[in-house]
Amino acid sequence: MNLILLGPPGSGKGTQAKFIEESYNLKQLSTGELFRNAVKEKTALGHHIQQYMNNGHLVPDEITLDVVLDTIKRLKESAGFIFDGFPRTIVQAQSLYERGIEIQLVINFIIDLSRIEDRLARRRICFSCKREYNIKYQPPKELNICDRCKGELIVRKDDAPNIIKKRIADYQGLTHKLIAYYREKQILKDIDADLPIEEVRLEIKNILDPLVREKK
Ligand SMILES: [Zn+2]
Repeated sequence: MNLILLGPPGSGKGTQAKFIEESYNLKQLSTGELFRNAVKEKTALGHHIQQYMNNGHLVPDEITLDVVLDTIKRLKESAGFIFDGFPRTIVQAQSLYERGIEIQLVINFIIDLSRIEDRLARRRICFSCKREYNIKYQPPKELNICDRCKGELIVRKDDAPNIIKKRIADYQGLTHKLIAYYREKQILKDIDADLPIEEVRLEIKNILDPLVREKK
């Protein structure tokens, strides 16, 4: 089963993706993470990606698709994928389909946009293992120290306030068409992402459990 999580930056979909990954044995493909890995590995592709990210621009379709398909090829043993941050456009959605990757479910995270900036400003990420925290809603046990690996927690470069504003505007500009596209295909489910993490998790479970049962 392949599913897509749609939601603006700061909607909590990264956290929920981890839950889905662990509970349903699917592999999360977060383009943000794939991009950061490519940058870290200093590949030619990574160099291009870094330039876009540093300026708060979206990475172009072709580069994104290359990175995603390359990862899927390497992980072909997996039972299915959770796409997080991709596709963002109808063109990307069609490219996925043309390359034989079928989507069974799209979960659309609905959130009050005025709250997102606030949420993102409080986001911290572990420098070593990349686990995410929120200093208000999901704080580490020790200040600025990762619970899992004791690494240092930092603010991601693209969570700087001016870049956040641009990311949200980009997201909205692009995804309203994609939402309509998947809604028409009748595979899109809306969830209320303003609810506490545990309640959002339950909403997702209620959507996924019947689909998983159907598969068996
Ligand atoms: Zn860590």
